[in-house]
Amino acid sequence: MVSLRSKAAPATSEIRVGLGKVLLVEDEALIRETVALSLADEGFEVLVADNGQRALEMLTGSADQRKGAIADISLIILDLMLPGMNGLDLCRLVRHQGMDVPILILSAKGTETDRVVGLEVGADDYLTKPFGMRELIARCRALLRRYQSKTKPDSKSVLKFEDIALHTNECQVFLSEKEISLSPKEFKILELLISQPKRVWSRDQIIDQVWGYDFMGDNKTVDVHIRWLREKLEETPSDPKYLKTVRGFGYRLG
Ligand code: CA
Repeated sequence: MVSLRSKAAPATSEIRVGLGKVLLVEDEALIRETVALSLADEGFEVLVADNGQRALEMLTGSADQRKGAIADISLIILDLMLPGMNGLDLCRLVRHQGMDVPILILSAKGTETDRVVGLEVGADDYLTKPFGMRELIARCRALLRRYQSKTKPDSKSVLKFEDIALHTNECQVFLSEKEISLSPKEFKILELLISQPKRVWSRDQIIDQVWGYDFMGDNKTVDVHIRWLREKLEETPSDPKYLKTVRGFGYRLG
């Protein structure tokens, strides 16, 4: 289930749409490692802490470089039952210090009261163990999207690759400055691929990102949409310049 294949995803600020640096606070080594690998596989940069105190230091910086330490971290995934300072206290402290970073609580405690307490101390979402990795990743992406659109409404609104320009807010695509008409799914697939040119995406990863993790259909659907996209974008669809097939893996742009 955990793959290291795509860990080398490119990481310039231009193409890190929807991705960012995640701080994972979890004392159980197996969960910590599994979650960290899955997030890295999705293109996130992952920092880990095995207790609340260490996490707090990473968030606020050490005494000699306290300034701006938080600016880097875009999401915190927080276990509740931790040795020393527990997750709720850490969450409270983070909010008390005025840090506006999305927090997703992971916990074995799943009663309604626990969820309410978690959300009341400033967490944004709550996932009960045991959880599915795809659900965790989908929730992380949703939280980041919400925060990014709240804080940076116009950020990275035009994604470019060679002659293709994709305007995310206007949902328009231009090929050599001529607008081409795409269906919503075609647009989303292209938006995903252009967000990380050269990265190889498997059909399952494309399904997760474009259709959602609860999609029940066949992943051949991806092939059909790629074919339609090629007909609209490529000069010679049978010998594509942009939408390349990577045999045995999936697709990439460029
Ligand atoms: Ca724990």
